[in-house]
Amino acid sequence: MAKSESAPTRAEGEPLLRVENLQTAFFTEKETIRAVDGVSFDIRRGETVGIVGESGSGKSVTARSIMGLVDSPGRVLEGSSIRFDGEELTGKSEKEYRQLRGSDIAMVFQDPLTSLNPVYTVGNQIKEALRLHRDMRGAEATEEAIDLLEAVGIPDASRRVTEYPHEFSGGMRQRAVIAMALACDPELLICDEPTTALDVTIQAQILELLDDLQDERDLAIMFITHDMGVIAEVSDRVNVMYAGEIVESAPVVELFENPRHPYSRGLLKSIPGNQPDADRLSTIEGDVPTPNEPATYCRFEPRCPEAFEECTKVHPESLGVTTSDDDHTAACLLYPEDVPQAEAVELHDQAGSDPEVSDR
Ligand code: SF4
Repeated sequence: MAKSESAPTRAEGEPLLRVENLQTAFFTEKETIRAVDGVSFDIRRGETVGIVGESGSGKSVTARSIMGLVDSPGRVLEGSSIRFDGEELTGKSEKEYRQLRGSDIAMVFQDPLTSLNPVYTVGNQIKEALRLHRDMRGAEATEEAIDLLEAVGIPDASRRVTEYPHEFSGGMRQRAVIAMALACDPELLICDEPTTALDVTIQAQILELLDDLQDERDLAIMFITHDMGVIAEVSDRVNVMYAGEIVESAPVVELFENPRHPYSRGLLKSIPGNQPDADRLSTIEGDVPTPNEPATYCRFEPRCPEAFEECTKVHPESLGVTTSDDDHTAACLLYPEDVPQAEAVELHDQAGSDPEVSDR
C-alpha cells in the first residue's frame, strides 16, 4: 500500500495490524495442511508482539500470510482478515503486495544471506530500496545508505557501504539487512527468528538495536522465535502458538509469572536455568502434530499432562483465564478457572459454535 492520502484510515483505537481468524492451508494431493488455523491478534504502533512456539507451530506461515508471501500450493482461506492501517490486505494482487512489502511492512529473516544479493555491494542494495520506495538517487541515496548503516551500528559506514556481503561478519550482515528494511521507513517490522543463527553476544546486540530503533521510530514489531528467553527480552505481549493455533496470549510479565496453558508451562520449564532444583532439563514429550483437519478436540491433548476426557471431544477456544480477564486468554478447557470445570467446557463448546466469539 502506498503511503497515499487516499489510503483508508484506521477506525479510532484500531491497532496498526489486526489479524482475525487467519487460516492458511496447503493443498497437496495427499492432504490439506492447515498450517495456520484461526489465528487472531493485534499489534499497536510502538509495540512488540512476540509469537513463540516449536517448529511446525505455524509462526512463519503467519508472517508470510501477512506479507502476501504464501507460495502455491498454499493460500489464505476465505473468512480470514488481515487489516493493516485500516486497509484489508487479503485479496490484494501481487502488484499491490509488492508495493506494500518493504514500504509499510518490512521483514527480516533468520538468514541474512537470503535477503542480501552476493554480487552487489551492501550500499547498492540499500540504495536500490531507497530508489524503489523513496525515489532517492545518486549522492542523496548514498548519504542516506551511510546514515542507515550508522543507525544500525555499523562502524566506518562510509567505507563499508562499498563492501560486499561476504566482507561482513554474520552479525554485521544482519545489521545490514535491518538497515535495508528500514530504508523504506516501514511502520511494521516482522522479524522471523532474526537472531537464531547468531552467537549469544551478537544476538544480544541485535535485540538491543531493535529496541533502540523501535524507540526512535515508534515501530511496531512482530517478533517470531522458538526461544522463550528471547521472547521475554523483546516482547510487550506474547502469543504462544501450537499446531496452527494461538493457545495462550498475555502481556509478557503476566505470561512468564503466571502461565496457564499446559503447553506454555512446558515451554517455560524447558528453558535452561528455569528449574534450578531439577536434575535434568524438562522437555515436552512427543512432536507437534500436522494439523490436517478442522480440530474438534484439543490438538495438544496427546502431549498434555493435564488432559481429561472432554479434551478429545471439545475444541478449546481462546477464552479469558478468568471470567473477568480478557487480556490473558488460553485455549484450554481448564479455563476460565473461576467456574467449575464442566461449566468451563460448556463455555468452550458454546464459543466454538458462536461465530462472534470463535476464531475458527
Ligand atoms: S484442553 Fe485439555 S488437553 Fe488441551 S491443554 Fe487443556 S487440559 Fe490439556
